[in-house]
Amino acid sequence: DPVTLLDGDGVLDPHRAWACLMANEKPGGHGERSVAVGTIDMALWDAWAKLHGQPLFRLLAAQAGRTANPRVFVYAAGGYYHPGKDLGALRAEMRSYLDRGYTVVKMKIGGATLDEDRARIEAVLAEIGPARLAVDANGRFDLQTAIGYARMLRDYPLFWYEEAGDPLDYQLQAALAEFYPGPMATGENLFSHQDARNLLRHGGMRPDRDWLQFDCALSYGLCEYQRTLDVVRAAGWSPSRCIPHGGHQMSLNIAAGLGLGGNESYPDLFQPYGGFPDSVQVLDGHITMPDLPGIGFEGKADLIRVMRALAE
Ligand code: MG
Repeated sequence: DPVTLLDGDGVLDPHRAWACLMANEKPGGHGERSVAVGTIDMALWDAWAKLHGQPLFRLLAAQAGRTANPRVFVYAAGGYYHPGKDLGALRAEMRSYLDRGYTVVKMKIGGATLDEDRARIEAVLAEIGPARLAVDANGRFDLQTAIGYARMLRDYPLFWYEEAGDPLDYQLQAALAEFYPGPMATGENLFSHQDARNLLRHGGMRPDRDWLQFDCALSYGLCEYQRTLDVVRAAGWSPSRCIPHGGHQMSLNIAAGLGLGGNESYPDLFQPYGGFPDSVQVLDGHITMPDLPGIGFEGKADLIRVMRALAE
């Protein structure tokens, strides 16, 4: 609406215009170029693996001198806020993930008051029993709020506390570690090996318990992700502490081929782009990669239909 760009005197207001341009931006994530390059790079790896007639994960493992592990840990991400979504609906959503074979589920926090979020967490924990819960603030907290949540969250045996503050605010992340002894996770909005290195240098992340969520498709692709893994190792971390963001088959191949700790999954969201080939089932929180050439997009009927419609 052009009217919203005008100030009280009917004159163009650059601040209002900028606010419109930036509406619904996630914190961090300055990734227009890195996503474009990452998408092209992943298409090239897909083509390369197909030219060899093999799954990408098997070639990656062979190239790295390792044994591929087609069995990959996956967790179910969801638990979003929706108007009218009460605790019962949240519990039912989480129950449905367990019914589909997941053993770790994730929900959003920070979109309600701290007391409301505590009630949501307790409701989900009561529902999922021995399964594990991760929580994700999507980078929305300032330092005081992040610490306030840490004091609440540390009462519960959470799988992780994700992206509390702005992803580029390494000092906030480091300060948070002093208040949160449980596992922390972040990195989905860091888009280069240099950003990853800064996180590991300055973010207070602990290689014995925390998790790194860099996403190859968002961050210049697999060539750059391999550099990021070099940074991870050089900082004294194991690649098994990486569980990428995004829930797509590109990171599944990297996980199976290069020994990552697993991959995100969105059972009910972002379809047809995320998920697994059609034959794949989640069993005991893991999937087994089928032996499809390349990344395996052809094994997911709804996705390849969209890709072919775009390309042909
Ligand atoms: Mg997240």
